[in-house]
Amino acid sequence: MMKEISIPIEVSARHIHLTQEDINALFGEGYELKKLKDLSQADDFAAEETVDVEINGREIKGIRIVGAPREYTQLELTASDAYYFKTEVPLRLSGNIEGTLEMKIKGKEEIVKEEGAIIAKRHLHISPQEAEEYGLKNEEEISIQCGEERKTTFHKVVVRVKEGFKLAFHIDIDEANTAGIKNTGEGKMV
Ligand SMILES: [Zn+2]
Repeated sequence: MMKEISIPIEVSARHIHLTQEDINALFGEGYELKKLKDLSQADDFAAEETVDVEINGREIKGIRIVGAPREYTQLELTASDAYYFKTEVPLRLSGNIEGTLEMKIKGKEEIVKEEGAIIAKRHLHISPQEAEEYGLKNEEEISIQCGEERKTTFHKVVVRVKEGFKLAFHIDIDEANTAGIKNTGEGKMV
């Protein structure tokens, strides 16, 4: 029996994660991102810095960098952004960027990445302790119902279990709009 729990919803705007190597190439050797505000998971933070990104000859300006630096450079877009770029953007679990879309990133300097642009699969962050308590396994897919006037059930929500994760259902702005959710909300497993 799955225990009924209230799940905090967090809405992600388009953003980019960068390796330190790419930060160096974009902003100068040894450059350190400046923290604008902490985000809910582990040491994630919104940086003051933004970049412009060009895909398929079209550009979106002012894309927020999310630190700390990662092992891979990954741009997380919405399906609406893909429509703007007039191209298909693969739907992937964060971190799984092999064979994804090429992009040009512009900071002080410009770099071209052969892959890294994705639409992130909706996912649930949860600690190993809570996962055990609620009977959830890493990478299992669940359904979460949320919203009021535009009540929606999201299926194929990927469970991500990791030490230090705080319980949160992460969706992008397109998904949030579908369910009539502004910045935060509550959902429940169904
Ligand atoms: Zn997340």
